[in-house]
Amino acid sequence: MPLLYYWRGDNYRRDLDMGAGYHLNQANPLMHQIDLGDSLWAFTRATDGRYVLAAELVIRAKTINRPSFRYGRYRVWGDLNTSRYFKVEGEPSIEQVIRALSCRANAAVLGRSFQGHAAVRLITTQDHQILREAARDLSLEPRARILPEEKLEAALLLGGRELVEPLILAESPGIGQARREYLYHQAPSRHRRFAQELQKLYQGKCQICIWNPIKVYGEPLCHGHHLHWLSRGGEDSIENMVLICPNHHGAIHSCDAPFDYQDYAFDFSDHREGLRLNLHL
Ligand SMILES: [Zn+2]
Ligand SMILES: [Zn+2]
Repeated sequence: MPLLYYWRGDNYRRDLDMGAGYHLNQANPLMHQIDLGDSLWAFTRATDGRYVLAAELVIRAKTINRPSFRYGRYRVWGDLNTSRYFKVEGEPSIEQVIRALSCRANAAVLGRSFQGHAAVRLITTQDHQILREAARDLSLEPRARILPEEKLEAALLLGGRELVEPLILAESPGIGQARREYLYHQAPSRHRRFAQELQKLYQGKCQICIWNPIKVYGEPLCHGHHLHWLSRGGEDSIENMVLICPNHHGAIHSCDAPFDYQDYAFDFSDHREGLRLNLHL
């Protein structure tokens, strides 16, 4: 079943500033009733007060967040190739379209029909077709581009602003100024420190396959990887990192495999790979 979600304007803008996430968190278990391949439609409020379509996430994975996660237990991930963020400023109002859908949004102020747990609603396939038609001529949000995560992690590990800034300029994603400053000045030293802590904790071994490069080559060849990618708004903390070998690292990035705290495994769509070593999550 497709879903409709009311994305508060400040949260929508924050998502773009941090690096478009292409995912959504909620405390409401309804989130996981969506089928893979179905769409989660998000609408928000533009700065002039109009309700407008904000995004269509075509769902490729559903995961559980870590127990203490403050934005809710349930997460869905949009396919990076087929999901879309729409421009929200100056676009036509979607209010009458949403009021006519099966989810019965009757409140005088539309957003009030979507508060708390009700922020996310199941909609019908017919509703989905109506929204798809309404989205037909919308412009895409140019800021919803993400940095190549592997390059970003390498730049943070090997240098600081001098390596991170050219990457951001070359890719021109819509990351906000505060987040840029963070990536330039604080993230590099934090990233190096946490990677070193993980090397020590796991004696250099891959947490997935236990490959031990120190034993074979005498070198710490495993990488610190961010479970929630930094380029998509993830936090730079050790709780958001694992130590994995270059093969697993490449596979996780290429396949965009999200991490599921339900079984501490990476979801590769057709199979899962769990952490065989885990002392810190
Ligand atoms: Zn490995
Ligand atoms: Zn990584």
